[in-house]
Amino acid sequence: GQSPQNGKGAGRTLIIGSNGFIGRFITEACLLSGRSTYLLNRCRSSSLISKAPITKSFQDMGATIVYGSIKDQDLLEKVIRENKIEFVISAVGGEGIMDQIPLIRAIKAVGTVKRFLPSEFGHDIDRSDPVEPGLTMYKEKRQVRRFVEETGIPYTYICCNSVAAWPYYNNTHPADVHPPLDEIQIYGDGTVKAYFVAGSDIGKFTMKAMDDDRTLNKTVHFRPPKNLLNMNELASLWEDTIGSRLPRVTVTEDDLLDAAKEMRIPESIVAAFTHEIFIKRCQINFSMDKPTDIDVCSLYPDLPFRPLDECFKDFLTKIVGTPKIVTSTKPVGSNNGIMVPSVKEGA
Ligand code: NDP
Repeated sequence: GQSPQNGKGAGRTLIIGSNGFIGRFITEACLLSGRSTYLLNRCRSSSLISKAPITKSFQDMGATIVYGSIKDQDLLEKVIRENKIEFVISAVGGEGIMDQIPLIRAIKAVGTVKRFLPSEFGHDIDRSDPVEPGLTMYKEKRQVRRFVEETGIPYTYICCNSVAAWPYYNNTHPADVHPPLDEIQIYGDGTVKAYFVAGSDIGKFTMKAMDDDRTLNKTVHFRPPKNLLNMNELASLWEDTIGSRLPRVTVTEDDLLDAAKEMRIPESIVAAFTHEIFIKRCQINFSMDKPTDIDVCSLYPDLPFRPLDECFKDFLTKIVGTPKIVTSTKPVGSNNGIMVPSVKEGA
């Protein structure tokens, strides 16, 4: 059954990367679950100043901020020991995967951490072979897995698949950008399915799995059946949400491979993953047949996942609620130069 540790006040948790895209979902869920939450932030730097409001909101929710780097083993040992940390979650980004090695050494040295969640939060990287430059990141994540297993610290790998947002092939953080309003790009023939999980659910179910005895040294796959959609279905769902049809254009396998070959970081990494998902079917081309595989839905059958139509409605609310975007006919922000037509309230 579920660990008795679930509940208010339990589980002293250290999170690294709380200001990041995935880290924000994890941190919010951790604080909402009532755990004592410690956030390791890099020493005040230019990157932190722009993220200060996020840090402040986490502090307001009860988080304790600790300053330092994930690369500083001595400091991490001190932080873990002094705060009696039981759970450690790393959500460092692609460029920081190998930086987790000193963290793992610190967890091993202190010896009291009940569970470590390395920065995974995507595909089962032992089963997926994207083209470069995606492969390099997966090779690093594999090295981290092997090191974790070698040290013998208790771990859980969270394979949450895609975040519920528009899967732009050249954008790292899809949930920060709304779905297209001018035309819809379909990868290949648009029939390959993938799992789209709300960011809040990635956080919520990670928290549940983290102190569950059943997930010890296991890989937890997020495969909610209702969140399994292909590009064509995703396009129709978004069209239904905005109340109008959009032209569809095909992005071929070669287009994706060309974008990957450009070796622009991080865009080419995202192109490589897009190819891996929507051409090579990496989220659905295996069954969970290893003894270490667990389907999160089988752990918590009564807990629903947010459906994608609700997530899309949130995007529409954001679009119509932002006057600049409603009226603009110019490229908006990081939205790949997409021309945004006017979207009427209640469309
Ligand atoms: P981000 O780049 O958005 O954030 C990384 C965070 O780690 C930042 O807060 C950064 O701090 C922090 N960090 C990095 N290095 C250090 C350090 N030396 N010391 C302390 N903190 C550090 O990461 P993402 O959210 O994009 O990626 C996190 C994980 O999620 C990755 O494994 C990635 O592959 C995966 N992912 C999955 C997605 C999906 O759809 N399933 C989508 C995107 C990512 P600072 O704030 O100071 O910069």
